[in-house]
Amino acid sequence: MDWDDTIAAIATAVAPGLGSVAIVRMSGPAAESIGRTLFRAPGQQVWDSHRVLYGHVVDPASGERVDEALLLLMKAPRSFTREDVVELHCHGGLIAVQRVLALVLAHGCRRASAGEFSQRAFLNGRLDLTRAEAIGDLIAARSQRAAQLAMAGLDGGLQRRITALREQLLDQLAELEARVDFEENLPPLDAAAVVAALTEVRQALEALVAEARQGELLRDGLRVAIVGRPNVGKSSLLNRLSRRERAIVTDTPGTTRDLLESELVLEGVPLTLLDTAGIRPTSDAVERLGIARSRAALAAADAVLLLFDLTTGWSDDDQELRDLVPDGAVLLLVGNKADAAGLATGAVAPTGPGFPLEVAISARTGEGCEVLVETLLQRCGATELQGLQVALNGRQRELAAAAAAALGRSLEAAAAQLPWDFWTIDLRAAVRSLGEITGEEVSEAVLDRVFARFCIGK
Ligand code: GDP
Repeated sequence: MDWDDTIAAIATAVAPGLGSVAIVRMSGPAAESIGRTLFRAPGQQVWDSHRVLYGHVVDPASGERVDEALLLLMKAPRSFTREDVVELHCHGGLIAVQRVLALVLAHGCRRASAGEFSQRAFLNGRLDLTRAEAIGDLIAARSQRAAQLAMAGLDGGLQRRITALREQLLDQLAELEARVDFEENLPPLDAAAVVAALTEVRQALEALVAEARQGELLRDGLRVAIVGRPNVGKSSLLNRLSRRERAIVTDTPGTTRDLLESELVLEGVPLTLLDTAGIRPTSDAVERLGIARSRAALAAADAVLLLFDLTTGWSDDDQELRDLVPDGAVLLLVGNKADAAGLATGAVAPTGPGFPLEVAISARTGEGCEVLVETLLQRCGATELQGLQVALNGRQRELAAAAAAALGRSLEAAAAQLPWDFWTIDLRAAVRSLGEITGEEVSEAVLDRVFARFCIGK
């Protein structure tokens, strides 16, 4: 596809005083000429594709040197977008790079929207949609495993799986459609073979849908709320898990009024820990605010660690808190201060003490915390992640599930021995859904939505 405009954006993260290098990237037919207008390369340096030039970005109006930079020209089609691309590698930080961007915009570039470079790469056939989405996932990855999974997508692992399934369906569709039109001229169709092929694809899709949850865990992580009465040791546990003094540990009940969020990675799974203020009936307005937040945190959490104090045992307040936990949330009952209570740490047998306790820990010594993490991840279904090769994202999962459901309807038509064209309606829908995953059959609106999730400059 040919665009007549040239887009530009800062391709690197923009932060004051941070980053030694910042890249302004241009893509489109005018990229090279704008580069030549704004960049002075001293000596005999040659403007060749895929060759780095050293020089300065100069404002042609004033002759002022705006930044010392490297220029990299990548001529179409050997570039990310398959268009002419020019990258100016400037000094990092905020000011110089933004002036360089302003200059290229003033000389004929249009400011790129989010994901627009990737969108051009996709529309020019450089990437299929699963690879383009994998780029977004790689950038957003919060753990090594999530990054590995995104790389597998970028290498085309998912595209190959989906394309193979789609082609199996297309083969069957061709057989069936030929029978719809020219039944009498063709050998009779082996209906059992068609049913077997559709069933196989459907099972493969269902397996992918089931695995998607695992991928989601790696990509998006888990939100875990730590709740408990004041002073049971929530902040201490948070500190223990994040191994840094993020929350302030004090002896006064109810000081953790706001919701504290800590990001950490445990066993490859990114976790957001939400430390809630002490949830209890109170007349203190500020406290009540904290309570409202805590309720919100409970509602938003994938899992809840309900912490109580083993030195005082399970109380009515603890029970009241337990009753606040929404149905369906993963709940783990954790007794803390095992050291002071003189109790053993670790997983507790169901026949244990006379109150509900699943894992006993000491946030102070750290004992039992490993078992706590293991149990938590297990309860959340996050322990089978090592063997995961590819994983669908939310959009892809919905499409795969829709394709599997459509195949289910096709198979029903087959079982009811309906005429061929009843089989093909849903089969075609399944083919279309899979085509939407790879981008072979996808509307502009869907594309816009996919690429809008990207950052600017990618
Ligand atoms: P929060 O109000 O639930 O956040 O509780 P804190 O983390 O602020 O802890 C309250 C008090 O209990 C502090 O004095 C901690 O030192 C103490 N504490 C926390 N965890 C333990 C533990 O495992 N053992 C003992 N002995 N004391 C603990």
